[in-house]
Amino acid sequence: MNSPSVTEIEQAIRNVPDFPKPGIQFKDITPVLADGRLFAGAMDHLLAGLTQGSVDKVAGIDARGFIFAAAAAARLGIGFVPIRKKGKLPFNTVEESYELEYGSATVAVHIDAVRPGERVILLDDLLATGGTAGAAVALLNRLGANLVGVRFLIELGFLNGREKLGGNEILSVIRY
Ligand code: AMP
Repeated sequence: MNSPSVTEIEQAIRNVPDFPKPGIQFKDITPVLADGRLFAGAMDHLLAGLTQGSVDKVAGIDARGFIFAAAAAARLGIGFVPIRKKGKLPFNTVEESYELEYGSATVAVHIDAVRPGERVILLDDLLATGGTAGAAVALLNRLGANLVGVRFLIELGFLNGREKLGGNEILSVIRY
């Protein structure tokens, strides 16, 4: 089975206008997930250059980031760390808040999810304004993680989300 190109994966992403509110064009990745070859290919592109032994943990952002981060962790044979919306994790957490267009949101991670110095890669489905990923980076920094990269299947480049991710190495498979 030949691995799909980035273009082929991009063509499977469904653009849904005005979801969840007017003016937003939602990038629906479920057609990629529903096709085993495209899902596996998306994982190949997301994990390009990462070898077993080069990373200790994969962190994923609630909720679609979990899909890619959990698959990546299983592929690399390493642990998965969920970064969740506030109030969902049962044990002691550290939290970071960030600004939304209206109001703010908070993400949290278990205090023992990463040991200081562990090499961590952070994954999410999509980088938009960078608020969510920026808060996730801040959480991992607070735990003492050695963040070796931040990767996204999709980046909405015109929103300049990268600027919120500090000097970390950033990779996005598909850019708009
Ligand atoms: P942001 O904090 O603005 O970078 O938003 C990133 C989060 O919101 C990601 O976890 C995405 O899942 C979601 N998101 C933002 N914009 C879109 C979009 N146009 N299509 C799909 N998901 C989006």
